[in-house]
Amino acid sequence: MVALFNQFKNLQDNLPYHELSNLPTPINKLSNLGAHIGLNNLYIKEDDKSGEPYGGNKVRKLEFLFGEALAIGVKAVITFGYAGSNHATATAVHAKNAGLKCITALLPQHNAEYLRNNLLMSYVHGAALHHYQTDLKLRFNTFINIFNYRIKNNHLPYWIPPGGSSPTGIVGFVNAAFELKEQIDQGLIDEPDLLYVASGSLGTSVGLTLGFAALNLKTKVVAIRVIDSSFVNKRRFEALYKATEKLLKKHDPSFPSTDFRQANFEIRDEFYGGEYALSTESSIAALNLMREKEDILLDPTYSAKALGALISDIEEEQDKEKTFLFWNTFNSQELSPFTSQISYHSLPKALHPYFEKVQS
Ligand SMILES: *Cc1c(COP(=O)(O)O)cnc(C)c1O
Repeated sequence: MVALFNQFKNLQDNLPYHELSNLPTPINKLSNLGAHIGLNNLYIKEDDKSGEPYGGNKVRKLEFLFGEALAIGVKAVITFGYAGSNHATATAVHAKNAGLKCITALLPQHNAEYLRNNLLMSYVHGAALHHYQTDLKLRFNTFINIFNYRIKNNHLPYWIPPGGSSPTGIVGFVNAAFELKEQIDQGLIDEPDLLYVASGSLGTSVGLTLGFAALNLKTKVVAIRVIDSSFVNKRRFEALYKATEKLLKKHDPSFPSTDFRQANFEIRDEFYGGEYALSTESSIAALNLMREKEDILLDPTYSAKALGALISDIEEEQDKEKTFLFWNTFNSQELSPFTSQISYHSLPKALHPYFEKVQS
C-alpha cells in the first residue's frame, strides 16, 4: 500500500515504484515503558518490520530507488556505507530479490556483532563487497570499478548515495508521513506532538518533515544525530527537503507547496557520543529498558540513541499527556537462518579482521 499514491494519482502514474515492503507498518502503544517513564501516550512505529527477509527504514527508500533503476533498465546498483551499514545490507538483500546485481563500497568502522551479521547477510545475497581503508581509496577504486563495469556491460550501474538519501529515496519517507496520517484517521494514534528518530543520512527525518508539512500535521520531528555533523546539519537538511519537494511537484503539480522556514523539525547533537557506532551511557540504558519493558531489541548505533534522547527529554517535559512517537528504524528480522550457513572466510580478505579481532 502506497498512501501517497492514494492522494496523488499523478505520482502513481509518473514515479516508478518497485514493491519490497509490508506496508503499512504497525503502530503500537508502549504501555509498560510509557508507565515506567511517566508518559501516558507513548507509541512506536514498527519500521523494523517493513520487509522480509530484511526490514528497517531503508526498505521504504529502496522501493523508489529500485523503481527508478528498473525503469531505466540497468542491471546493477552501486552503494556506499560504513562496514556494518544497514543500508548497504538492505540494498544487497532486496536487490537480489528485485533481480539487480549489487555492488557495495565500504569504509572502516567500530566493530560490533551486528556488523558481522550484516556483512554475511550481504554476501549470502550475492553482493560484490569492497572495503577500503580511506575515503580517498574508496573514491578512486569506485571510479575504476564503474569504468570497468561500463566497458563490460555497456551501461552504468544505478548510483545510490549513502543511506539511500537521494530525493528519489526520500520520497519513501514522504509516503511514510502519509501512511501515518491514515493511521491517525483510523484512530490507531492521536496526531503525535513529537516524533523521535535517529538520523544518519537525513532522508528519514527530511521525508517525514516534508510529508507532515504537506499534510498540515502538527507533529514535530526530533532528529537525533548519530554521525559526524558534516553529514547531519541544517544546511543539508534544507537542500534535501527542497530537492525532494521539487521532485514531487515536477511529477504532480498538485502536490502542496510548503514553506521550509515553517518546517517543524529539530536536529539534536548531544546524544551522538563522539563516534559513529559507539554506544553511550544513555543509549545502553535505553536499549536495556526497551528490552526489559517491551521485549523489543534496538541497535546501539541508531535506534537506542533516539530512544535515549526521548527518555532524557521526558524528564524535562511538563505535559505528560502529550503524544510521543518513537520511530523504530532498525531491522528486527532474524538473520541467523542466512548467516549461520556461511563462514567469513568466503568474504573478501579485507573484511576478515572484523571476524578475527572481536572486541565485544
Ligand atoms: C540508516 C539508519 C537510520 C538513519 O536514517 P537516515 O535516513 O540515514 O537518516 C536510522 N536507524 C537505522 C537503524 C538505520 O540503519
